[in-house]
Amino acid sequence: MKSRVLPFKAKVVEPIRLLGRQERQERIEKAGLNLFRLDAEDVYIDLLTDSGTGAISVAQLGRMMEGDESYAGSRSFRRLEKEVQGTFNLPYVLPVHQGRAAERILNSTIVGPGQYVPGNSHFDTTKAHIEYARGRCVDLTIEEGRSSTINHPFKGNIDLEQLKHFIVEHGVESIAYILMTITCNSGGGQPVSMENLDAVKEICRAHQLPLFIDAARFAENAYFINQREPGFSDSSITDIIHQMFDGVDGLTMSSKKDAISPMGGLLVVRDQELFTKLRTPVILFEGYVTYGGISGLMMESLAQGLREVKEFSYLDYRIGQVTDFGEMLQQTAGGIPIVEPVGGHAIFVDARRFFPKVPEDQFPAQMLCVELYRQGGIRGVEVGACLAGRNPDTGENLRPPLDLCRLTIPRRVYFKEHFEYVAEVLGQIKERCGERTTGLKFKVEAPGIRHFDSTFEYIS
Ligand SMILES: *Cc1c(COP(=O)(O)O)cnc(C)c1O
Repeated sequence: MKSRVLPFKAKVVEPIRLLGRQERQERIEKAGLNLFRLDAEDVYIDLLTDSGTGAISVAQLGRMMEGDESYAGSRSFRRLEKEVQGTFNLPYVLPVHQGRAAERILNSTIVGPGQYVPGNSHFDTTKAHIEYARGRCVDLTIEEGRSSTINHPFKGNIDLEQLKHFIVEHGVESIAYILMTITCNSGGGQPVSMENLDAVKEICRAHQLPLFIDAARFAENAYFINQREPGFSDSSITDIIHQMFDGVDGLTMSSKKDAISPMGGLLVVRDQELFTKLRTPVILFEGYVTYGGISGLMMESLAQGLREVKEFSYLDYRIGQVTDFGEMLQQTAGGIPIVEPVGGHAIFVDARRFFPKVPEDQFPAQMLCVELYRQGGIRGVEVGACLAGRNPDTGENLRPPLDLCRLTIPRRVYFKEHFEYVAEVLGQIKERCGERTTGLKFKVEAPGIRHFDSTFEYIS
């Protein structure tokens, strides 16, 4: 492993503590073996999400102190607007409280009943908002993107032949727009290539279909293009971002990811007429158009975060840290089975390979999350059979292709020692419990999104 150059040092730190084994045992029992029900202060290393969990910089904090809380036309909004316009080369900027607010407003405005939105693995809130607007998501991710072992540099790509075929088969009128998610969240942030994006733009132009981008991790995607795509190693991150957004109709963005902010989102469009239409729902649901439900303070943090996230040294550290963690795990205890290649913001442990003797319907990934907490105070999140839920028609448990324990890496928060600790704990679990033959069952299965509120017990 080569040593990394970190473009920051710590100036303010937040204490964390590792509870004793007995206390951890009590806390997780009390939480019904559901990590969402734990108090964060009882967690030692929290890898639940990279959303809003990044460390802000001194420059962000400084700018936040200058936040202008004027209701209309604040200085903070003007700064944010300028930064966003410069980043994406798109003219019309609407701040919103987080990514899903932008999704709600865009989809309720441009998706007609029964219309399709083809894309590359829509994020769950995005899918929910398209469906709430009575639209239908069509996932056309390339075949390689669906496998945990096939190595491909751009597993977030959309299958172009399938996209063309879909348009011809269903007709342009049946499609509201095309959505590309960069990086693609499913699979832990698998990137989309410029070649793929350019081809999608060409298809959209030919059929006069709008193209929108879910830009939550746009900078991480740009870094992957710089590193992996022929012809881009000499391009700056800024130039790559400009080329990525050249010709697209707009974007929705959760600023809790690549704007390294605790809160906030963006809805940005190219067309003035659409912008005018979007203003009313922003005012109705979010706030006046120059603050959109976030404070001047948060707009300053967001604007500065957008500036910092494009720095090559930051991205090199960020993606490098995630890559190194993945390599560390592959060298632990004869190899922790993870999804490959590692993406931009998370590592996924393949729990069916981790606990090969536990039946698939006994929630091996959920059990791995529980063991990580019991044995090390670490919090990951299950992305597998529990999250997938039941078939609404038959009531059967869905069985997703992979049952995964996701370890998501907050930005600028943890150091190598933290990851070495996580690797060590995972290694111990594999050695001590890898031969287990039974898993978990529901104690109480929560209705609807059962992920958050269900409780479990061990099958003995
Ligand atoms: C987080 C995320 C969203 C939703 O954003 P929120 O700020 O959580 O509402 C949408 N798309 C992607 C790809 C995301 O990662």
